[in-house]
Amino acid sequence: MTTLRSRQQHGLEATASRGDKTKTALTKAPPTNPSVRTASRIGDKRNQFFDLHIFLNYGWIGILLIFLWFWGLYYVIQSTDEKSTKLIEIQHLLRKRGNGAQGKAGGKITSSQVQHSGFDIAGNPAKDMGASAGKYADPDSDGHETIDMREWSRTLPFANPDGGTWAQGFELDPIPISKTTPLKVFVVPHSHCDPGWLKTFDEYYQSQTKHILDTIMESLQQDQRRKFIWAEISFFEKWWNEQSADIQDTVRMLLRNKQFEFVTGGWVQPDEANTDLYAMEVQLQEGHDFIRETFGEEYIPKYGWSIDPFGFSPTMAYLLKKYGFKGMLIQRVHYAVKKELALHRQLEFLWRQTWDDEGEYDMFTHMMPFFSYDVPHSCGPDPEVCCAFDFARLPNVGVDADGIVYTKECPWELKVKPIHQRNVAKRAMVLLDQYRKKASLFRSNVVIAPVGDDFRYRTLAEAQAQFENHQLLFDYLNENIAGVSIQFGTLSEYFDAVIGTFDPPILKGSFFTYADHKEDYWSGYFTSRPFDKALGRRLERTLFAAETMGATKEEMREARRSMSLFQHHDAITGTATDKVMEDYATRMQNAILDIEQWMVKKLTAEHEHLGTLQPCWQSPSSRGMDVNFCNESDQVLLFNPLDTEQLCGDVSVKGRSMGMGTLPCERPGSIPNSIIQFDPLSGLMTHPIKEQWMVWSVNEGGAYLFVPGSLHDYKGIDIQIEMGGFVVKTKNWRRTVIERTVPTNFQGKATFIEFIYETNLRDDEEEWLVRFNTDIQSDGVFHTDLNGFNFDTHYHRPDLPIQAQVYPMPTHASIQDSDRRLTVLSEHSQGTASLEDGTIDVWLDRRLSQGDGRGLEQGVQDNVWTRSKLRVLVETEGYKHGQNEEFDTTPLCKQMWKELNHPLELFGTVKDTVKGFGSTPFHNDFKPSNFNPTQTGDDLSHKQQAYKYEIPIVFMVQKRVDYFKRVIDSLRKSDFPRATVPIIISHDGRIQEMINFVESIQSDFQVIQLFHPYSCIEHPNSFPGDDPSLNKGYEGDSYGNLRDAHVCCLKHHFTWMINEVFELTSVKMAAGFLFMEEDYLVAPTIYETLQTGFGFLDQDNKKDEYFGLTLDISDNFANKIPKKRNQWTTKRFVSGPMTIGRHMFALLQQFSNQYCEFDDYNWDWSMVHLMGKGLLPCKTLVPNEPQVLHIGIDGGLHDHYENSELEEAITIGLQPFHAKLSGQLSEVGRFMDFPKAHDQGYGGWGHPADQEHCKKLFHGQDPKPKQYFHL
Ligand SMILES: [Zn+2]
Repeated sequence: MTTLRSRQQHGLEATASRGDKTKTALTKAPPTNPSVRTASRIGDKRNQFFDLHIFLNYGWIGILLIFLWFWGLYYVIQSTDEKSTKLIEIQHLLRKRGNGAQGKAGGKITSSQVQHSGFDIAGNPAKDMGASAGKYADPDSDGHETIDMREWSRTLPFANPDGGTWAQGFELDPIPISKTTPLKVFVVPHSHCDPGWLKTFDEYYQSQTKHILDTIMESLQQDQRRKFIWAEISFFEKWWNEQSADIQDTVRMLLRNKQFEFVTGGWVQPDEANTDLYAMEVQLQEGHDFIRETFGEEYIPKYGWSIDPFGFSPTMAYLLKKYGFKGMLIQRVHYAVKKELALHRQLEFLWRQTWDDEGEYDMFTHMMPFFSYDVPHSCGPDPEVCCAFDFARLPNVGVDADGIVYTKECPWELKVKPIHQRNVAKRAMVLLDQYRKKASLFRSNVVIAPVGDDFRYRTLAEAQAQFENHQLLFDYLNENIAGVSIQFGTLSEYFDAVIGTFDPPILKGSFFTYADHKEDYWSGYFTSRPFDKALGRRLERTLFAAETMGATKEEMREARRSMSLFQHHDAITGTATDKVMEDYATRMQNAILDIEQWMVKKLTAEHEHLGTLQPCWQSPSSRGMDVNFCNESDQVLLFNPLDTEQLCGDVSVKGRSMGMGTLPCERPGSIPNSIIQFDPLSGLMTHPIKEQWMVWSVNEGGAYLFVPGSLHDYKGIDIQIEMGGFVVKTKNWRRTVIERTVPTNFQGKATFIEFIYETNLRDDEEEWLVRFNTDIQSDGVFHTDLNGFNFDTHYHRPDLPIQAQVYPMPTHASIQDSDRRLTVLSEHSQGTASLEDGTIDVWLDRRLSQGDGRGLEQGVQDNVWTRSKLRVLVETEGYKHGQNEEFDTTPLCKQMWKELNHPLELFGTVKDTVKGFGSTPFHNDFKPSNFNPTQTGDDLSHKQQAYKYEIPIVFMVQKRVDYFKRVIDSLRKSDFPRATVPIIISHDGRIQEMINFVESIQSDFQVIQLFHPYSCIEHPNSFPGDDPSLNKGYEGDSYGNLRDAHVCCLKHHFTWMINEVFELTSVKMAAGFLFMEEDYLVAPTIYETLQTGFGFLDQDNKKDEYFGLTLDISDNFANKIPKKRNQWTTKRFVSGPMTIGRHMFALLQQFSNQYCEFDDYNWDWSMVHLMGKGLLPCKTLVPNEPQVLHIGIDGGLHDHYENSELEEAITIGLQPFHAKLSGQLSEVGRFMDFPKAHDQGYGGWGHPADQEHCKKLFHGQDPKPKQYFHL
């Protein structure tokens, strides 16, 4: 109870602290040095730009200053300047109210290599598969035992009767064994290691996987009869690179002995629902390349092992066949399908491609019969009996080095007991009974019994328990039971013993949608985390483009591996924790940037006359949509990665070549003779198809499961309809329609419309979808694709729950009748269904607050603005239909698909100003430039002169929109040349109200928006937010306080921002920047002051003498305003809005390690620390007339402040300042000495994670969060 209450209290404090930027170190343990910490605490309470702590740190100075303050106050009040008196009174009031952050194309599959009916990922149209009439309707017509899953989906009851011991099956009889019919058992030790799920890839590696690999190698050496199989090369490669030559030799020896074996050998064990063939192949190549280069061709696996992906696709069978595989094993298949196959001993079959009449790509497949791949569900049908042979569950065995017990006791009555001479006979016979029963399900007398689970074999004790106890049982059985041969085995030993011993049935089709239990259908993960799914495809497109441009596998290695990692069955599926998804996204974003850099380098070299090129479409963060960086009027370079022509407007770019064009390549709107109609009230399309925005309101379901509730139309308030319906916007759901012309030879035969949805789902327990509604008589038949390569056919089943009829749609969904075919093509994978005749539903996003009992233990709530681009094609001719026809797409549809997935890559010269950088979730590439400088209020036109220095203003903002509005008002009334000089707004988190406001001022200002990617607001529970694991083993800062994100977030934001701003290409001409917060008003002469001051600092002899220009002489103390207003002064830097030039930033970069390592959460005080060490100049230049006014106080503006008071402050507080600068400057003498160097800061910045992150930002390195989870 106590813990709970204190956590709640902490939460409350955190919320409050984000609002007013005060820090919460206050809530932490008592400091070791109470007097210093007291100072720090008072510092905590200050506003960032108000350095009260500096004063208070020096006791006597503090007292003196307090004296001076009152003296000053008295002095000024006595002054005849009535305005000053008023200002002072207001500022004083504010303070009193509280002073308150590939070889070429990667061995891609081409049409010349293979016939297939689907799409070719390389963009080559596949050959038509030809007629296969008859087979589908009559699967047994060729006399061979053929199972068609599509037929089963129409006819199988999918019932769930109680099977007894084997709950989802039936009672089994043990097979008889004798010398003439012997039983051979291979017990296969394995450990299922997810490359990211609850923990990130690196976290799992450090905490578990490396220990597992150490353990395996050690225990295999102890007994040559021991075996082990390993699937995830991503982990193995990392481990391998850390091993000594001796251990590497041991591994080679174990591979040679066939004790250790790679299975599948992919980078990961990929998901098979959301992935496409290209990515599946890249991840396989990455693993195989490593094995080949490290151990040699002979160690590349010949057998596949896929035990955890949630449903299976024949595309994987095809791919593995193409890579020379001889067999594969799968596990998670609908229990009713398993049962039906088991009843006919068809769990081992030849998986045949639906289009492959000759069986050229047949793959021998073993389907595990039971519920799971863990030990209880692997030895035989009785989980209670099997569990008792999971020796990792013995007491005191599954305990890791940290004393954490990671294995659970069996949840059944039977418990695990060690094997010894007295019980071995009895126990061995119990186990043999399970193997004999399992064998009854198969046509060979060979049994495979995997022994392992998630992250097993973590300690030697566990490995010993598993190997030794099993060996005792094996020895007994081998010696005492005739006809039994049992041993540890590898996957190839099993398959080698089975394949060829019987004539397997043929099976066609897929194993979607998977259910593991009752009506728990895993159809939610087809859509979960659509932003990340889309980012994955974006990476694929970029990689593909680079590879067609000539990039080699070696050049693309890191990018290929980042992409490969994301194909893992907890990554692209969206079934990992928030921080893990973030880790994948960061890796992908970095990969995209790396590939683009490669392309830019190549193009710039080839097109020197174009200047510095950049990709037009870029994303400012790993979870932000792309924005256009190129000018619409400029010529842009167009690269066509396809082998067929593509258009940008009227410009045609030939296949695999370059062209020039202007943006945008396509605009919303209709084409001549358009038949499109929209509803005037909703803006939604009514013809030729009816468009519905719909919402499933649900009560259950999580990242994996979709559990329907009620379906209703999306009720958008604030609907804005533009262009008669071609653009429709609501607050969180926007849609653009682009009608496109079809090639001449298809005219009149097809309608082709593009729908771009941008959604930002904010309410929990909702699933958003778009329904395309037609009067096509689809008769319950629905076609989707498998991995952009194969097709699947589904039949509507009124007797089955809705969640059973939602399917993966990696790229394509289609319905048809004899008159028309409706096809929806997508840019990334999502869930789809056809629940009513004539309709196709495409999921756009889902948001759920709870887990769904599959171990993730969290919902899906990290939704961000997500773009789903859909192409809808209505064809009236040229497609095959009829019951006996295999589904196939038309050449037109294939072309549309290729262009959607591999559009032109656009490169332009650097834009002068980037409007709406990362800000506008709605793509504004279609809109004409919205910048239209208008002069309001004062006549400042005479001041729109060419200023010598470009000094953009940078605002660091959080959520105080009411303040910021006033700030912008003051800026509007000032001489700031908003037509030519941008303002840069750096958001610490996506506060919608702030974003909306910023968007609203884009007509008046040139706005560059930045979003701090390491914002604590957006990462509350992971670095740099409060990740509790960071405090594990951390001894605390200089005061012994543990890490508290709220203390250090502002320094993180500032540090990131200053590095970002000085590197921004769009403001590369800027001489310097004025850094402000969201609550500082500016004087009408702000820019004149900046120009004059900066001109002075720009002199050679001043550059090294002055840190910069500050704008408030008083440092927020009214009494400090000098009598002689019309002058400039030199004083020591304290804090406050500051203007620094590029030269000073370079110096700061040089000494950034000291800045980053100084244990002080205040960015400004950290700079003062550098000044104290003599590393940075401490002088600033400052006008005697304050040119900024701090209005920020605790709480909301209106609670504390009368408008009239503020108005007065605004009107009288900031006066024009026109003073010239000569060499004669008054100096505040006492403050001209360097500040005292401190060994110790105010704390809160002692954690190596914060310091490392900071250093990487300064060194231009990618501060991947992964590196911060371990000390
Ligand atoms: Zn897994």
